[in-house]
Amino acid sequence: MRDQDRDQGVKVSGFQDYKKDISTPVQYLKGVGPRLAKILSKLGIHTIEDLIYYFPRDYEDRRNISQISKLRIPEEKVFVKGTIAHVENQKKPGRLSILKVTLQDISGSIKLIFFNQPFLLKVFYPGVALLVSGKVEFNSYEGAFQLVPRDWEIDEGEPLKIVPVYNLTEGLFAKTLRNIIKTALDQYLSSLKEPLPDEILKENRLIDILEAVKNLHFPQELKIVEEAKRRIIFEDFFVFQVGLGNRKKEIKTLDGIKFNSNADLLSDFPLPFKLTGAQERVLDEILNDMSQDRPMNRLIQGDVGSGKTVVAAMAAFVAIKNGYQVAIMAPTEILAQQHYEKFIKWFGAIPVAARLIALLLVTGTTQSKNKRELIEADVVVGTHALIQEKIKFKKLGLVVVDEQHRFGVLQRAELGNKGRRQNLAPMHPDVLFMTATPIPRSLALTLYGDLDRSIIDEMPPGRQPVKTYYVSNSKRRNSYEFIRTKIKEGRQVFVVCPLVKETEKSDLKAAVEESEYLQEDVFPEFKIGLIHGKMKQTEKDRIMNEFRDNKIQLLVSTTVIEVGIDVPNASIMMIEHSERFGLSQLHQLRGRIGRGVHESFCFLMGNPKSQDARVRIKAMIDSTDGFKIAEVDLRLRGPGDFCGVRQSGLPEFRMADIVRDEKILQVARDSAFKYLASDPHLEKTPQLKKSLVNRYGRFLGY
Ligand code: ADP
Ligand code: MG
Repeated sequence: MRDQDRDQGVKVSGFQDYKKDISTPVQYLKGVGPRLAKILSKLGIHTIEDLIYYFPRDYEDRRNISQISKLRIPEEKVFVKGTIAHVENQKKPGRLSILKVTLQDISGSIKLIFFNQPFLLKVFYPGVALLVSGKVEFNSYEGAFQLVPRDWEIDEGEPLKIVPVYNLTEGLFAKTLRNIIKTALDQYLSSLKEPLPDEILKENRLIDILEAVKNLHFPQELKIVEEAKRRIIFEDFFVFQVGLGNRKKEIKTLDGIKFNSNADLLSDFPLPFKLTGAQERVLDEILNDMSQDRPMNRLIQGDVGSGKTVVAAMAAFVAIKNGYQVAIMAPTEILAQQHYEKFIKWFGAIPVAARLIALLLVTGTTQSKNKRELIEADVVVGTHALIQEKIKFKKLGLVVVDEQHRFGVLQRAELGNKGRRQNLAPMHPDVLFMTATPIPRSLALTLYGDLDRSIIDEMPPGRQPVKTYYVSNSKRRNSYEFIRTKIKEGRQVFVVCPLVKETEKSDLKAAVEESEYLQEDVFPEFKIGLIHGKMKQTEKDRIMNEFRDNKIQLLVSTTVIEVGIDVPNASIMMIEHSERFGLSQLHQLRGRIGRGVHESFCFLMGNPKSQDARVRIKAMIDSTDGFKIAEVDLRLRGPGDFCGVRQSGLPEFRMADIVRDEKILQVARDSAFKYLASDPHLEKTPQLKKSLVNRYGRFLGY
C-alpha cells in the first residue's frame, strides 16, 4: 500500500514540468498577505517550507463530542458543539472584561467564559453554531459548571474529524493557521522531495516524507501520527549523522603521520604510578591511531582527575621521540600555565636526540602582539593565542586540545585547518581532544559524532569520593570550625562565590568582601587569598603559586578555578549560593578537591528555593559519578542549555529531541554510518546531500 502510494507520488511529480518552490516566502501563499506573514514570522515561519514543517503540538479528536449536560468534571478537557443561546458582556472595574456566552445542545447548556476579548461581541450572537474545545471549571459563586475555551470556531457544518492543535501567537486564530497549512499542503506537498534513500526507508519501515507530513497535519487516525513522528525524527538524526560521518570520513582521507608508536619509546617516560586499566586501553587506542597514515581525530572523555592529561602527555612523548612538535591548547591562561608546569616536570629533563626536550608557553600575555614566530620548541603549551596565522610550526605532529566542549563541530574543523596551515611540514598532525565534562551518550553522539571516542571510566586507585553536605546558614559556624581543625592538620580550602553575569561587579564585591570577612572575623590566624577573573594574569599566577605552596591556606575565588586546577593538598571546598550554579558546574568545581590522599569534603551553602535547585543539590550529595550527574543535568536543563552547549550550538532539528529520542538516535546513527559505507560521496541520493547542506550546512561547516 505504501509502496504504491510512493510510486504514485513519483508519477504525479514527474508529470509536472515546473515544481513549485517551497522556499517561496509564505506571504505569496493564497490566503496569506503581508500582515499575516508578519504574524507568522513570529513563529519562525518565513517560507512555505517552514509552514509545512510547522507541526502540531497536539491533536483534538472531534469525533468525540461531549454532551453539554455531562460536563461535570473540573479540569476535564472537552470538545462540544452547540448553538449560542445568550451573550452577556460584563465590564469589571479596571480593564478586565468578561464575556459570558451560553451555549446549548440538545442535552443542556453551559456558560463559556472569555476574558478580555470584547471584539467577540461582533461574532457571537444567539443562533450562531460553535465548535468549542476547552477546560471544564466549577464556578462556586454561581454554583455551576462553566467552560473556559482554549479554541473555538464557527461551525460551518464540515464533517468532524481529528484536528491539529498548533502553537499560536497573538493575532493568529487556530482556524486560520489550519486553513493556510491546508492550502500549503494542497499546493506544495507533492513538491517535497524524499531525502531518505529507498533502502533506508525499507529497512527501518519508515513512511515516506509526503505521507508523514500529510499525516502529521491532518491524520485520519491517531495511530499513524506516531509513525509519522518516528519518520521525521529519524530523518532529523539520519541526515545529521550522515553529515557527521561524512566529516569524519573526510579527515580519514587526508595524509597523516605514521608515527612509530612502539611501546619501548615510553620506557623512559617518568611515570610515578601504574596506569589504570582504562588509561592503558585509551593509550593503546591513541597509539594505534598515531601509527596509522591517516590523522587521528579522537576525543578522550573522562571525569576530572581520571588521568587524561597523563595519557595525553605519553602520546606527546611518543610524538616528540619521533622528531615532531606537540601543541597543547588550554581554554584559560591559568590552565595553560599549569599544563606547562606539569609537562616540564614530566619531561623537562629527558634528553631526546642528545638534547633536552624544549618547552614553551604561549598565551595572550606571553605573546608579543605582532611578532611573527617560528616555533621550534618540542612542546608548546598555550591558549587560543596558539592558533594564529603568524605563528608557524616547524614540524607539528600532534595537537592536544583540552576542555573540548567549548568547541562545536565547525570550530573543530576550523581548528584543524588552522593547525594545518600553520604547519610547515606537509602532513596533517594528529589531533587529540580532551574533555572533563561527562557528556551523556546522546549528546556526545550529536556534538562529537565526527570524532572517535575513548572513555576513561575508572579513577586512579586510592581516591576517596568527596563527602558532600548541604549546610544551611544556621550551621555555617560549625563548618567554619571544621575548616579550622582541618587547616590546623595541614589541609587547604577553597571557598567559591558565584558569578552572575548581569552583575559581575557586585559579585566581584561579594568575593572580595567574603575574603575580607573570612580573614578578619573568622580565620585571623590563617592566610586567606583571593582570586578572580578580573585580576591581571601575573597577579593570578602569584596567588595560585602561593596557594600551591601552602602559603595561602584558604582561597576565596569566583568560578575561575572551575577547570583543571590541581592542588592535591586542598581537601575542602565550600560553595556559597550553591543554588545558583548549574549541576555540571558544581561537579566541575568539586573536582578540584579529592585529588590527593586526604579525605575531602564539599559544603554546599545557600538556600535552594526552587525544586530544580533542590534536585541539583541532592544529585551532588548522592553521587560523585560525573556521568550520572550529567544525565540528571541533561534531564533538568534539556540539551540546549546543557553545559555550555549553547555556545557551541546544537543542530536545529525539526522534531527530534536527543534526550527523549535517544533510541531512534542510535538506530539512525548506525544506519547513517552503514549507508555512508555504500555511498561515500552521497551520489546515489542527491536529495540527501541537498537536505544535509540546507539543514545542517552551517553547523557542520559545509
Ligand atoms: P585529568 O587530566 O583527567 O583531570 P590528571 O591526568 O591531571 O587528570 O590526573 C589527576 C591526578 O591523578 C594527577 O595528580 C595525576 O598525577 C594523578 N594520576 C593520574 N593517573 C594516575 C594513576 N594511574 N595512578 C595514580 N595517580 C594518577
Ligand atoms: Mg597518524
